Amino acid sequence: MTKRLSNEVGTLYVVATPIGNLGDLGRRAAEVLASVDLIAAEDTRRTRALLRHLGLDRPLLALHEHNEQARVDSLVQRLRSGDTIALVSDAGTPLISDPGFPLVRACHGAGIRVVPVPGPSALIAALSVAGLPTDRFRFEGFLPRREAARASLLGDLAAAPETLVFYESSHRILETLAALVAAFGGARPATLARELTKLHETLLTGTLEEIHAAVATDEHQRKGEFVLVVGGAPPREGDRFELSLANTLDVLLQELPLKRAVAVTARLSGENRNRVYRLALERQRAQQKDEGGTD
Ligand code: SAM
Repeated sequence: MTKRLSNEVGTLYVVATPIGNLGDLGRRAAEVLASVDLIAAEDTRRTRALLRHLGLDRPLLALHEHNEQARVDSLVQRLRSGDTIALVSDAGTPLISDPGFPLVRACHGAGIRVVPVPGPSALIAALSVAGLPTDRFRFEGFLPRREAARASLLGDLAAAPETLVFYESSHRILETLAALVAAFGGARPATLARELTKLHETLLTGTLEEIHAAVATDEHQRKGEFVLVVGGAPPREGDRFELSLANTLDVLLQELPLKRAVAVTARLSGENRNRVYRLALERQRAQQKDEGGTD
């Protein structure tokens, strides 16, 4: 059920901040930070430095993973009384591997307006330059530290067809690359994005094996912050057959009546005629939908 929002209550702004280059702070973000009654910040010292850069001095309150549950009620109370609050994290977009989820959820529960002020996120920045498919991707954030939990998760992800995105720190990047080679094989295409938007920004592209070797042999490549983007699992034999069947039908359905297209495809592929017929109906419906235009 949707909830109606009252005009009397304040607003929570979820504000993205730079992931390195301060020039990436948006104008709207700066305006919101300048105007709110309070800024709830993951680390008040870091946010104070950002505010100094903007020439601002605003009230700050620490909201991090260790105190966020305890602080949510009082923040919701302030919002209820009409205050406006900006939520920021140390870098990038709050809630993306960062604190803020309990507060945002509580605001929804209390009928308080939550407004995004979008901007940088290492996840999207890395995906945009990785050179790997972005039509579908799966964000996994930080992998578990414990070896058994990490191996089990990677085992589950090994067959995922989507591009995978991981966050990693300098302490574990080499270990994580080795674990990925072990779980996915060394041939997977990948991109390691290091220190995005900063002085030592580097993109390493290649296979997992090549990237692992590059990071193992050059200690500079182990310094800083990382996003690892890994290509999805290649289609299995069965999927490839389905794909070529669908492609054949797509072409023939443009040229022939349905029954003829089915007969020719069944003969060419050796596939059961009823199965081809069912698939042909699905493809035909999809083509008609596309031609109908949904934009
Ligand atoms: N909320 C942030 C965002 O929207 O990207 C992410 C916060 S998470 C605690 C920090 C991790 O994000 C780092 O360990 C690293 O994996 C990634 N990260 C943040 N800034 C980065 C940068 N400039 N270059 C590469 N990775 C970065």
